[in-house]
Amino acid sequence: MSTGSSVALTDAQREEYNPFLSMQKGFNTAADYLGLDEGLREVLRSPDRELTVYLPVMMDDGGVRVFTGYRVQHNFSRGPCKGGIRFAPDVNIDEVRALSAWMTWKCSVVDVPFGGGKGGVICDPREMSAGELERLTRRYTASIMDILGPDRDVPAPDMNTNEQTMAWIMDTYSMHVRNTTTAIVTGKPLAIGGSRGRTEATGRGVMISCREAMKKIGLRPEDTRVVVQGSGNVGGIGALLLYREGYKIISLSDMYGSVYREEGLDVPAVLAHLREHRRLEGYTDAEHRPNAGQLEVDCDLLVPAATENQITSENADRIKAKLIVEGANGPTTAKASEILHQRGVVIVPDILANAGGVTVSYFEWVQDRMGYFWTEEVVNSRLEQVMVKAFNEVYSTAEKYKVSLRTAAYILSIERVASVYHLRGIFA
Ligand code: GLU
Repeated sequence: MSTGSSVALTDAQREEYNPFLSMQKGFNTAADYLGLDEGLREVLRSPDRELTVYLPVMMDDGGVRVFTGYRVQHNFSRGPCKGGIRFAPDVNIDEVRALSAWMTWKCSVVDVPFGGGKGGVICDPREMSAGELERLTRRYTASIMDILGPDRDVPAPDMNTNEQTMAWIMDTYSMHVRNTTTAIVTGKPLAIGGSRGRTEATGRGVMISCREAMKKIGLRPEDTRVVVQGSGNVGGIGALLLYREGYKIISLSDMYGSVYREEGLDVPAVLAHLREHRRLEGYTDAEHRPNAGQLEVDCDLLVPAATENQITSENADRIKAKLIVEGANGPTTAKASEILHQRGVVIVPDILANAGGVTVSYFEWVQDRMGYFWTEEVVNSRLEQVMVKAFNEVYSTAEKYKVSLRTAAYILSIERVASVYHLRGIFA
């Protein structure tokens, strides 16, 4: 169920689906294992800075509309804040807070020298023209640029934003500061300082996480039936890379429905159809099904790569997969995670599984600052090293504390951030 659902929620559901409370639950469990003192918990549980902006935008029909945007900086003790910007109708401050905190933990898990931030604008990009989106993006950038900068806060793409959005952000910032500042944003087109391999990086990281987890639980790609929720930058590319490794992808979905084929989908053909028609509808070589129930399809590996709160206490008992690799941020609620962990289902958590994107964002930022660009092979092999190292560190932390991989990832990342506070002290 999505938080944007129009069905009235009970208080218990509202609490379960609040991503910021979910993040705090995960944080508190790990902080208990670490014996973190109350003062530091207070510091790390809450964001450092939140900015809300109201953005007047001239629409194509000549009218003006005012959009609401946010940028939350959760923590910058380890380096500049880093994290994407999403455009969606159901963006809200608690979601952006949670996502920015998850960026802090994510950067720490893979040990890239960034803190966490996240931005969002409440809008429906499907109903906006390219011109309206450009004006909205430029106005949003101008409104938050006092807190941005290559050494302060570096945005990137997220849901419904892409290379083009990043190019507008880079241009708007550069025009204001009167020099071309490529390192202000990552996920840019190659021609203006983007990195080779960035577009595929999150999907590649998901594929690497699947492979490492499968080795631990003794599954082979050719015997593995995979359900992927989503078919965008993370789900689509993740599915394609898994398909190339020999996994059998039996289901993929988009916003409107899912496709299913027991013998395995021809993933390149499904993605070609999507590129052409922008939706799965009309793809001929598969059975079409509604999205409800897709996560409960009988499979070995489930990759939720769409949005938050998809696996909840309501459907956790019906999930059949033995392994879940979280491509999206926050797809499993804290309550559902607990139920699945008790049932012995292994979950590779979002802050590890989808960290490939921010890792290559870090490589992009480094390349921009050096003015020297790497080959795709170099990018991919460095990404591989970072992901495998992080996976093994999380896995051994889980063994050491006898906890789930999610709690282990939080323990590892919080410990790293806490150690920085011990070294730097609290500025007075
Ligand atoms: N939006 C992506 C994420 O959630 C990428 C963030 C980045 O590269 O800064 O990890």
